[in-house]
Amino acid sequence: MNIHEYQAKELLRRYGVAVLDGHVAWTPEEAEAAAGKLPGPIYVVKSQIHAGGRGAGRFTNDPDGKGGVRLAKSVAEAKAAAAAMIGSTLVTKQTGPEGKLVSRVYVEAGCDIARELYLSLLVDRDCSRIVIMASTEGGIEIEEVAAHNPEKILKVDVDPATGVSGWHGRKLAFGLGLEGKQVGSFVKFVEAMYKAFVELDCAIVEINPLVVTKAGDVVALDAKVSFDDSALYRHKDLEALRDDTEMDPKELDAVQNDLNYVALDGEIGCMVNGAGLAMATMDIIKLYGSSPANFLDVGGTADSARVTQAFRIITSDTNVKAILVNIFGGIAKCDMIATGIVEASKNLKLSVPLVVRLEGTNVELGKKILAESGLAIIAADNLADAAQKAVAAVKGA
Ligand code: ADP
Ligand code: MG
Repeated sequence: MNIHEYQAKELLRRYGVAVLDGHVAWTPEEAEAAAGKLPGPIYVVKSQIHAGGRGAGRFTNDPDGKGGVRLAKSVAEAKAAAAAMIGSTLVTKQTGPEGKLVSRVYVEAGCDIARELYLSLLVDRDCSRIVIMASTEGGIEIEEVAAHNPEKILKVDVDPATGVSGWHGRKLAFGLGLEGKQVGSFVKFVEAMYKAFVELDCAIVEINPLVVTKAGDVVALDAKVSFDDSALYRHKDLEALRDDTEMDPKELDAVQNDLNYVALDGEIGCMVNGAGLAMATMDIIKLYGSSPANFLDVGGTADSARVTQAFRIITSDTNVKAILVNIFGGIAKCDMIATGIVEASKNLKLSVPLVVRLEGTNVELGKKILAESGLAIIAADNLADAAQKAVAAVKGA
């Protein structure tokens, strides 16, 4: 789950991470009041969307104008900047061409920047540890640095048994060329970030840029925090930070129905039980020359209600030209699943070709139920057969 910059900064501040003062604003008037509470004379008004690259982004109603992060030299200018952003759609490198609607801005104190650095924490699956990454190349996308100047990315990993220590921070600080009191500020910063990361069960925390101010302080100027969804049950308070308007409506529907769904841009809708089988199904669709419209794991209890919900989400995607059901009946037996598929197809009046491959417990009974349903279900014998039939269906064969 992702959250907005202002929410991330609020959380990080509680752990002692250095951030500037700021206030969220939903209207130009609130932005004016927010700026009024800051010391000035420089304010920064920042569009709040779940995407980076806002500074270099452009609004669809003002393509030649200024970006989604603007400097204001007075309270009135801050209000005007907020008025230009709120209710407008911002397109950045990360939003896709359709952009994202800005419903609120963050009005923050202006910062006297000496250096822009990069810092992030994430889980490195290779070493099964939290890794802290830093770079002197702040303010630009880290993927670009990794592609062109990989030697400029510094990394330390943290042994979970002993946790973070001053050594980790100092190693990175010296690598970044920090000196004097900057080193101490940076070490404290890293320790606070690590504590926040672990206690909040984060998947990634990225500070880009992390700045060194002219006064020598180390401050987070941007903050991206993403939580591990599997741990959200331990953080009921964080769920309130979810911004439903930022999610794909189909994915939101899936979250509310406890389905593992990821929207993709292909044409074959997939309904599968088990994440591994779902991945294999996507791969084989590609192999036979089409592409999946989604990843969907309906889980172990693929009963009629869940199958109906899954079909509803899949078919709400207008790109879907055929559906491939690939279910292994273990605990959920094939006859039960077949009954679910038949009921769901009738309830939803499915209008796209439906290919079904069932395997496992009671498979013969399941196939019989499908065959006798009177529905135009294309039965498949194995995974390759199912994928070929689904691809043939979308290619209009
Ligand atoms: P994004 O990554 O979405 O473009 P950032 O928060 O990183 O948004 O802001 C973009 C740039 O704007 C930063 O690299 C920094 O140069 C400048 N900036 C952001 N916040 C402030 C601030 N409070 N004071 C001064 N400059 C800022
Ligand atoms: Mg940034």
